[in-house]
Formats: sequence, C-alpha cells, structure tokens
Amino acid sequence: MMSYIRLICIVCTIYLIPYTAHAYSNDVLQQLGLRIKTVVIDAGHGGKDPGTVGNGIVEKEQTLIFAKELGKKLQSAGYTVYYTRTTDVYIPLEKRTELANTKKADLFISLHCNSHHDSSIAGFETYYLSVQGSDKRAAFVASRENGVSANKLNSLQIILSDITLDSKQEESKDIAHHIQRSVLARAKQYSYTIKDKGVRSAPFFVLLGARMPSVLVELGYVSNKQEANILVQASYRKAVIQGILDAIQSYQKSLATK
Ligand SMILES: [Zn+2]
Repeated sequence: MMSYIRLICIVCTIYLIPYTAHAYSNDVLQQLGLRIKTVVIDAGHGGKDPGTVGNGIVEKEQTLIFAKELGKKLQSAGYTVYYTRTTDVYIPLEKRTELANTKKADLFISLHCNSHHDSSIAGFETYYLSVQGSDKRAAFVASRENGVSANKLNSLQIILSDITLDSKQEESKDIAHHIQRSVLARAKQYSYTIKDKGVRSAPFFVLLGARMPSVLVELGYVSNKQEANILVQASYRKAVIQGILDAIQSYQKSLATK
C-alpha cells in the first residue's frame, strides 16, 4: 500500500514539476527521493563480535578505520554523515538500519572484510539485498556475515521470501555497480591490482529493513596474505574511499540525466 501511494506521489511530482529536457534540478531530485544528502556508514561487527580474523587482521578494527575515513571524506564533500558506531562496541544488526531509517538517510553503506578457507581467493565485492543469494558463494558470505549456519540461513530465507523487498532494490543494485566500478578504477590508479569479484546479491540481515538504497561492501579478503597486507595500507583505503565518493556522485549524475 505504501509503495502504491509512493508511486502515485512520484508520478504526480513528475507531472507537476517542470524540468528541463536533460536534467532535473536538485530540488526535484530531492522531492523524488533521488538525491543523496545523508549517508549512514556502518562499520561491520564490533565489540564481542570481531568478524573475521586472518593474517593479523581483525575485521571489526579495519571496518572502523575505513568507516571513519570514509565519513570524513563524505563530510568534506558536503554530505551529512552518521555512523552506526565510532568505537569498538557491539551493535545488533537490526539496530544499524534502524538508525539509518531514523536519520532518514538516503544511503546506507555497510563495510566488511571477507575471508575464505582457500587462501588464494581475493578481490573486491559489492552486495545488495536479495532473498536468494545470486550464487552459492554469495549465500556463503551472507551466512558468515549474518553469523548463522547455511542451514539456518535457508530457513530464514523462507521467512524473508514472505516479506516484499523494498522497492529500493533496483537503486541499491545500481549504486552497488557504481561502487564496484569506481573503487576498482581508483585502486588501479593507485597501482593496486585488485580482482573484480563483481556485484552480487544475498540475504544480509544488516541490510534488511533499510528504507533507503543500501549496499554491503566487502573490502578485501583477510584470508589472502597479499590482500591482507593491502587492506591495512593507507593508500588502499584512500583509493577505496575516493572510489565510493566517485560512485555516489556518478550515481546521482546518472539519475539527473535519466
Ligand atoms: Zn563482516
């Protein structure tokens, strides 16, 4: 019902507000809910939940470092930023999107580090929420990030399939593609050879309930020695963070010219 009303509102807005042939004004974009102004940055895990650990890297520590630096960068570019955590504290998954909803965020970004029992696996991945994982490995990553077994994830998927996913799924997918492209381009600029593991979808609890476009970024594999080494480098963080900012800006630009 809500989405039906929203659709009507959007259609009305399109007809009632004049726009130029090629670009909407910022005001129109904001009224359409297409302008990103407020971003909630979620440093994955924290407190009693260390996340994945490998090659001397603790996921909750790295995600917090990335989150704070990303926040500063976005703030300096004019965005309003909120964090789900700024210290080593445990925050339940549902509380994270709850904060984003309360703050009326336009985008929710959850930062994580990946791991695999095969230490040769490495690369950068961006996820958006779906009931079924886009592939077996995506489902595995979701099961690990959710802190549940693959079996339990299956039964939860059945429950989730009854919930109509928010209409923001397409926008989330779109932003995920922008992030994936921009981060890899920036990494290359900084002379990092990062494997493109693509955009995937999976049932991540941390993204469930977000009323705005939401993505989960897997910054790299701590289980891969070379990548673990890269993950702690300030210049890699700089590349990733600049890439995410590029992605938000290019996404908005793409909306404005649609
Ligand atoms: Zn994680």
